[in-house]
Amino acid sequence: MTNEQEHEGGCLCGALRYRIAGPLEPSIHCHCRLCQRSTGAPVVTWVSFPAARFAMTRGTPAEYASSSHGRRLFCATCGTQIAFRSRLRPDDIDVTVASLDHPEQHPPGSHIWTESRLPWLRLDEDLPAKLRN
Ligand SMILES: [Zn+2]
Ligand SMILES: [Zn+2]
Repeated sequence: MTNEQEHEGGCLCGALRYRIAGPLEPSIHCHCRLCQRSTGAPVVTWVSFPAARFAMTRGTPAEYASSSHGRRLFCATCGTQIAFRSRLRPDDIDVTVASLDHPEQHPPGSHIWTESRLPWLRLDEDLPAKLRN
């Protein structure tokens, strides 16, 4: 197969490991309050792709329903959030870029939920803000 790429990642303690098949689009800085609260970080950077290309290779993530349509997948031991699923986009999955083994290979292309962007955060000022549910 040409153009086939594999990406691997996992949580801080190593209980969860996952694999992503195929190329990935540029990542997205999300500034929503749910990402902020659920990680304690000012911004969370995600890659989004078809969920059929995602597979857990070790462990089973815990889940938390962070809204009526969203579920956050995380390690019950160390707390690392690895993924997000939304009923509004049932065929897709979002994975936290920083849980990948090589996050440096997935630079961001845009910002979303910038209405709750923290005013003191200086980050990729040149990238466009996009709408996203
Ligand atoms: Zn862990
Ligand atoms: Zn978010």
